[in-house]
Formats: sequence, structure tokens, C-alpha cells
Amino acid sequence: MPLLREKGIDLYLKREDTIHPYISGNKYRKLKYNLREAKKLGKHTLLTFGGAYSNHIAATAYAGHEQGLKTIGVIRGEELEGKWHDNPTLNLAHEHGMQFHFVSRSDYRLKNEAAFLERLTDTFGDVYLLPEGGTNDLAVKGCSEILTEEDATFDYICSAAGTGGTVAGLINAAQSHQTVLGFPVLKGDFLIEEIRTFVHNDRWKLVTEYHFGGYAKVDRPLIDFINLFKSKTGIPLDPIYTGKMLFGIFDLVKKGVFPPETQILAIHTGGLQGIKGMNHILKKKNLPLLDV
Ligand SMILES: *Cc1c(COP(=O)(O)O)cnc(C)c1O
Repeated sequence: MPLLREKGIDLYLKREDTIHPYISGNKYRKLKYNLREAKKLGKHTLLTFGGAYSNHIAATAYAGHEQGLKTIGVIRGEELEGKWHDNPTLNLAHEHGMQFHFVSRSDYRLKNEAAFLERLTDTFGDVYLLPEGGTNDLAVKGCSEILTEEDATFDYICSAAGTGGTVAGLINAAQSHQTVLGFPVLKGDFLIEEIRTFVHNDRWKLVTEYHFGGYAKVDRPLIDFINLFKSKTGIPLDPIYTGKMLFGIFDLVKKGVFPPETQILAIHTGGLQGIKGMNHILKKKNLPLLDV
């Protein structure tokens, strides 16, 4: 990439998207210890939460299928009831045996409240509860395994952030000379506090200028960037997370934020199953489609 050469920046991509065909990237890391814990506790069912295009829903469905655990997805949007066959993510989750429980947006907001969770366990029995996005202590522990000793040469570790669990794991695993940059894909400041509850050091920052208007919001420059990146490198990026992070990294490089000889490691957290669903949306909006 000419821009990187011109600015003297070394940018590497850690391909977590290729570690599993269905449970891509960070969602595999986040589930690893939770699956072990569920089994240890003798649970037969995983219950979790997500939106209609959630990578975590897709990953949980597959992991349950693979491990012989039943899965229940509490899905945001009661209007999807009966209409989810049009949705590639939910279709795939259903194929892997996930049972859906559609709730209104206002009920969905209660997803961390004890009374709401109690109602769910009354309905569905003795389940292993995974929060939205799969983020809890065990998930953060799993994500800390993304970094290995070989990654010690980098100055910056970059990752997209949704619930912040992945970034928290990276922060805990980073070396004392490294800074972790999280690129939130949602608007708002809630993430800082959320991440703080999981981490043991302050060598990290959130870069908040590249959410593109919020979760799953995209525009033409972002889509053009993702398609260009794929044509130049052969590496697909997803439009919700990794595309926004890399757009942000390139923009920061362009602005001269990193001094020459900076070594950057960006984590490709996966999420490629979301491209199909996004193309449905782009088609409706008459925007260019993502190359697959
Ligand atoms: C879920 C997801 C993230 C965000 O992970 P969090 O731990 O929720 O911050 C980043 N990238 C991809 C591809 C994801 O699916």
C-alpha cells in the first residue's frame, strides 16, 4: 500500500477471521472458556442475546451445535417473528439448531436486569446465560489469547470494539511498551467504563471518530474502501467492525498521527458472515454492494 510506504508505517493484520469457518475471530475466543464452564456446570442449553445480524448469535448457534448444547437466541425486534427466513444470519443460526425468542426493543433493553433474566429462566429452564456479544470475564480471558509472544514487536494493537470485551482481553495481554487502540462501532461513551471493569492497566485508548453514525451504519466511502482493500490485498473485511477499524487506521496514518517506523498490529476479528445481510440492506438503499 503506497500510503503506508510513504509514511514509513508497518501494518500487519492478524487473521483471526480464518481460525474457524463458522465461529469466526473473536467470537470463538469469547466462547471458548464459556463453553467449558457451561459443561462443567452441567448445563445443556446456552441462552444469549443479539440483533438480527449478530456475529455472536451465528457463532453461539454453531458452537452449541458442535458441542451438543441446545441454543436459544433472544433476538431484538419482535417484527422479525415469522420474517426471519429472509435474514441470512438467523437462517444460518436456525440451521445450526438455534431456537429464537423475539422480543420488542424495549424488552431487549432489559437484557441485563435480574427480573427479566429470571422470567427467561422461568420460561426456558436451567440455561447457561451469555450476555449480549458474549462479553464476560471468561470471554475477556479468551480474547487475551489473541496475542502471542511474537506480537511483542508491535507498538500499537488495534481492534474494533462493540461491547469492548475483545479490546479488554487485548489490553490485559499487551506488553508494557504497547498501546491498545479500540475503534468503537457504536456511538456513545459507555464503553470506557465497561472496558475499565475488565482491565488491569491504562495503556489503551478509544478512537471514537470512525463509527460512521452507529452500529451497522455504512456509507459509500466505507464500502468503496472495503472493496478497494479486498482488490489490493485479497483480504475481505466486514462492514460493521473490521472495515471501520481499517478505514480509521488508514485515515490516522494519512493524518500523520503515527511517527515513521511505527509498527501496528490490527486484529481481523472476523464477522464476514455479516456481509450477505449487509448487501441486502445496501441493495434496498441503492448503494454499491460489497464484493464477496
Ligand atoms: C463482535 C465483534 C467485534 C466486537 O467485539 P466486542 O468484544 O463486542 O467489542 C469486533 N469484530 C467483529 C468481527 C465482531 O464480530
